[in-house]
Amino acid sequence: MKGFTTKSIHIERFKPDVHGALRMPVYDSVAFEHASSKDIQLAFEGKKPSHSYSRISNPTVEEFEQKIRVLSDAFAVLAVSSGMAAISNTILTLAGANTNIVTSKHLFGNTFSLFEHTLKPWGLETRYVSMSNPDEVANAIDENTRAVFLENITNPQMEVADIAKISKITKEKKVPLIIDGTVTTPYLFKSKDFGVNIELISSTKYISGGATSVGGLIIDNGNFDWKNSPKLAEMARKRGPGALMSILKQEVYRNMGACHSAHNAYLQTLGLETMGMRIDRSCENTLGLANYLSQHAKVVGVNYPGLTDSPYHEVAKKQFGGKYGGILTMDLESKDACYCFMDELKLIKRATNINDNKTMIIHPNSTIYCEYSEEEKLGMGIRPTMLRVAVGIEDLEDLLNDFEQGLDKL
Ligand SMILES: *Cc1c(COP(=O)(O)O)cnc(C)c1O
Repeated sequence: MKGFTTKSIHIERFKPDVHGALRMPVYDSVAFEHASSKDIQLAFEGKKPSHSYSRISNPTVEEFEQKIRVLSDAFAVLAVSSGMAAISNTILTLAGANTNIVTSKHLFGNTFSLFEHTLKPWGLETRYVSMSNPDEVANAIDENTRAVFLENITNPQMEVADIAKISKITKEKKVPLIIDGTVTTPYLFKSKDFGVNIELISSTKYISGGATSVGGLIIDNGNFDWKNSPKLAEMARKRGPGALMSILKQEVYRNMGACHSAHNAYLQTLGLETMGMRIDRSCENTLGLANYLSQHAKVVGVNYPGLTDSPYHEVAKKQFGGKYGGILTMDLESKDACYCFMDELKLIKRATNINDNKTMIIHPNSTIYCEYSEEEKLGMGIRPTMLRVAVGIEDLEDLLNDFEQGLDKL
């Protein structure tokens, strides 16, 4: 069994079902019984794998985690309540006061806000560099750096850094490399092959199967020696490669309480089965739309790594197996033109999400980034003339027709 989709449908159930159910039931139960007092003691000590309480683990969530683990060929996976929970739990596990993380200003807006507004007052410094310039990454790392963090296709700047080059640096400096791989998933990006240590994913996006539910994943590729990460060093001496998951499960994740719900894990396990097909279709649609828009007289610019004139085309081709994701940005003459065009659209939704089955459009400058000054927005590459299109799986012809009639009105 080699194909991603075959595997996602046919991976053996992690634990056999008493009734032989082919689909994992939703275990909507908070508490689980133990056979003896000794058993419950061993469960609490983490010495006997079993479920006790659903904030800590749940059979339906575990099934989802195990599927992701097999599909991404990872060491261990923890499913959490959202993509933001995956990021915050991981950073809180690795870093703390008087330490720093190295990242880029090309970040998902809430991630930037987490670093700048939530974690900074607790003493965590964030160093911003250009991920397209590996020397800057190397120079920013010092003895207090606890992680390098980047998105593999930045949303909405569409920057694609050469991750193999960055992982060479982080490996040499013995600092874990964390990638937010939400927009590619393990279907397009085999993070382990590029030296990534931890991959974080918002399963709200492609994995959920069409925006059915919120969720997040922490994927440990098992290729970092946690003895080199000061907060994990002691645990690494006891648990070896399991140190990150041990600290999460016995401390940070348990105490933060951002657990995945059994129902959402069920929906997302189902979503996984059709994910490869849906990603293929949305990538094809996005490339078709990007080609159309780049020929259109009223479109000032199109930014999509699938276009051969994108500065990131070659590296994206190498990293993502010849597919380029389901998001593009387009620039029109002015902000007014962007608003006018958006308001004319009949099929495409004015909404904020990505990797949905439905195509969506948003003006990031006035929405996702509205809390920042114009100067800060420009620093993050959020131009007032830019629209982000997250392309779904509709028939391409219908999408092109909607764009055409909207652009005709300008
Ligand atoms: C949506 C998104 C997140 C946050 O995920 P939620 O599930 O909404 O918390 C993080 N990173 C990227 C790249 C995203 O697109």
